[in-house]
Amino acid sequence: MVKEATGIVLKSISYSESSLISRIYTKEFGKISVMARGAKKAKGGKAGMLEPMNIVELQINLNESRDLQILREISIIQNLSHIRSNIQKLAVGLVMVEILDKTTQANDQSEILYRLIQKSLITLDHNSNNHLTLLLFYHLQFSKYSGFNPIQDQCHQCNDLLTEANLHSQNGYLYCKNCNYNDGIYLSNDNLSLLKLLSSTHINDLQSIEINSKTVQVLEKYLIQFMVFHLQGMHNIKSLNFLNEVAFA
Ligand SMILES: [Zn+2]
Repeated sequence: MVKEATGIVLKSISYSESSLISRIYTKEFGKISVMARGAKKAKGGKAGMLEPMNIVELQINLNESRDLQILREISIIQNLSHIRSNIQKLAVGLVMVEILDKTTQANDQSEILYRLIQKSLITLDHNSNNHLTLLLFYHLQFSKYSGFNPIQDQCHQCNDLLTEANLHSQNGYLYCKNCNYNDGIYLSNDNLSLLKLLSSTHINDLQSIEINSKTVQVLEKYLIQFMVFHLQGMHNIKSLNFLNEVAFA
């Protein structure tokens, strides 16, 4: 059956001399794989449209009993040229799509995750600064929508309100100082407040939040570790190495 969809390209790999297989996170069907025959041909090839992060409109031959769908037509909805011309933005965008790719199952549709990735990429493209704050926002929302909220008000053990906390290195929950699991990442009172602020701010208003680079690094590390504990597929996000090189070196 011929179906239309809107999606974000996650990854494309070569298949045979002239074709590509691409994974695309669609609003309508969740993550799907498509075969793009002839995509690498010099004339009329669609390889450029199948670059990661592109926001595209698709026409596919959908057969839900198969893992691989056939791509008929594709066009770009949104050109993300600013992301591709700024190495830090590029790294942030690649981390966003790789997390979505690695932690979601095929055909598991989620309109809320779709809206998050689309809005995050468009905001990353438009905004002139604050890429890393946007990434923290993305991690927070992504984890929440996936069922695990990184913001925890109370100690996992004694239920006291947290004024500062350590991430337990065995179970991925926050503990107070008295409960003494001080072997994991430490979050100060300011760190905890910033996480709450980020979580309650609209994506369009993130530019008003200023976080120094050291704090960004702590929060990034915490959110990634938290997700590694709670979301399957998070342990091997390769683009994080690239991000560390261009943003935190
Ligand atoms: Zn405690």
